[in-house]
Amino acid sequence: MSHVGDTTVATSPSEVVITADRYACRVNSRILGALVKSGSESVAEIIDGKAHAEALRHQVRVATATLVDQTGVRPGLAVVILGDDPASQVYVRNKGKHAEAAGFHSLTHRLPDDTTPETLDRLIDELNADSEVHGILVQLPLPQQIDEQAVINRIAPHKDVDGFHIETVGRLALGLDGFVPCTPLGCLKMIRETGRELAGLHAVVVGRSNIVGKPMAALLLAQSCTVTIAHSRTRDLPSLCREADILVAAVGRPGLIRGDWIKPGAIVIDVGINRITDVDGRSRLTGDVDFTEAKSHAGHITPVPGGGGPMTIACLLANTLQAAENAAKKNAGE
Ligand code: NAP
Repeated sequence: MSHVGDTTVATSPSEVVITADRYACRVNSRILGALVKSGSESVAEIIDGKAHAEALRHQVRVATATLVDQTGVRPGLAVVILGDDPASQVYVRNKGKHAEAAGFHSLTHRLPDDTTPETLDRLIDELNADSEVHGILVQLPLPQQIDEQAVINRIAPHKDVDGFHIETVGRLALGLDGFVPCTPLGCLKMIRETGRELAGLHAVVVGRSNIVGKPMAALLLAQSCTVTIAHSRTRDLPSLCREADILVAAVGRPGLIRGDWIKPGAIVIDVGINRITDVDGRSRLTGDVDFTEAKSHAGHITPVPGGGGPMTIACLLANTLQAAENAAKKNAGE
């Protein structure tokens, strides 16, 4: 047996038992990899968002084929994009590519940057009325002449696969069934995959945006975690983070969370996607967590890239499939 922070690890592969503050579990060799020791230093298990996303996309593809076979309903996803922001164009292309690969009916509406609110409203109304479209996604951000929340609220709630409609947000807050925003949903799936019992754990979510921080906190609360939300006005963020059994960083500040802010053995989910330029002039993506430092402290950690990003699109597909299944049930009068 050896000690990794507050975690005790038996190092024989045939008998690997981890006991931490509130849990004791037999783990497989995959988890053993989580706590491989190098000298006296523990090394976190890397949560492979790409692999989780691939597995989820596979499940969606199989379920889509079954739905089409049994009901004739093919999930349809319509993506609306205004303007030519390069990052948004890449996201939209990826969403279309993965939707087609899942066997969906995939539509992309590309509108100019100077589209009027009335034109956009008309398009949303048409998509709401189109029985072949089960999910509608409006790529954000929108140009300044458009009121983002008004557009989102125009989407029929049963087609709101992004989970941003005011009714959908209310349902999540009340703990009722409904679509969950894709990025926090993907994060929760990865947290659950660690196998830890989540009830009673202290989760700290850094960031309080409507699309990531707040829904992430609501999801963790629904798992009976004790949740703290931190933001730019939070006092002594490092001390707060050190109390977190689950730490979710959704800030947009490269490397903000340092290794010594992390409680030994914590689950660390890095949502941040920041483009930085290295000293050699090369540009690359990095997260909100200093990964090199953090992996010696965390029990599980997501990398950037390859963590939450791929899961977001996979969850969008899962939500759209759910919308199509709901429509098929409605058609059948269930
Ligand atoms: P956002 O709307 O800009 O929100 C950032 C949050 O971080 C705000 O609540 C802000 O606090 C807080 N914050 C800023 N500086 C801070 C500091 N020094 N200490 C503590 N809190 C601080 O950003 P977002 O849309 O949530 O996105 C956050 C990050 O996630 C970005 O890097 C984004 O690219 C990434 N992201 C990734 C995905 C994905 O993986 N698919 C999806 C969405 C976003 P205040 O509220 O007080 O200003």
